[in-house]
Amino acid sequence: MRVFLSTDIEGTAGIADWNQVLPGAEYEMGRRLLQDEVNAAIDGALEAGATEIVVNDSHYLMQNLLPGELRGNASLLSGRHKPLYMMEGLDGSFAAALFISYHGSIGARLAILSHTYNPSCIAEVRLNDTVTGEAGINALVALHHRVPVALITGDDATADEALPFMPGIETVVVKRSVSRFAAESLHPAVACERIREGARRALCRLGEMAPPAIELPARLDVTLRTADMAEMATWVGEVERTGDRTIAIAGADPLALYRRFVTVVALTRVLGEQP
Ligand SMILES: [Zn+2]
Repeated sequence: MRVFLSTDIEGTAGIADWNQVLPGAEYEMGRRLLQDEVNAAIDGALEAGATEIVVNDSHYLMQNLLPGELRGNASLLSGRHKPLYMMEGLDGSFAAALFISYHGSIGARLAILSHTYNPSCIAEVRLNDTVTGEAGINALVALHHRVPVALITGDDATADEALPFMPGIETVVVKRSVSRFAAESLHPAVACERIREGARRALCRLGEMAPPAIELPARLDVTLRTADMAEMATWVGEVERTGDRTIAIAGADPLALYRRFVTVVALTRVLGEQP
């Protein structure tokens, strides 16, 4: 049983600020907390019978995890400019995908460190008219490969936003968002224990899980922060300008939709302002 882990970082218990997830004094603590949660998920997967684990490090420069400290002799996909970004490495040979340390969308009402791929360019994404974060967008790739997303971990908003597109998914909530920059977290040891148990439970009930429930043809409506970003997004083929700051990406092929979306993310990055 091959298991694919896509890991972000903002959904880790104890993390509440950008300075814990980007290079700086607090980053070493943040990455340590993430490493422990990823290892907890691997432990749970191994208990459920996983025989091969591939971890896609998907945050920022995508070199947050320490390869030698990954449990289960897991392989590590790390580094920048992976064509399929947070979902690079997934194919139809995997029994399940697990989303670890995910976070709420930029369009969420209340979500710690909310963003959808790039907070300096993207103001909201809707998938088939429902506000979605990275989990729903990434699920397009899992749908293409017909692989169920069995587990998601993060704050309460992360779990809530995943359910419309992955109705059978196991959710582990490790913190409650209090504001965009405040959260009440479980103790890291408790969070890891719940993640280990969640991963085990999720994979033990794989038989009742299905690939993501995203109706095709699907449509991504993306609101950019400025009009010139929306204009630039249309340089990507088959992207429709639907308003001053809005674009739509639509079609029946979920992988093609995802590729177009991450191309828009990569392209518009040059217009984002660094605060
Ligand atoms: Zn993210």
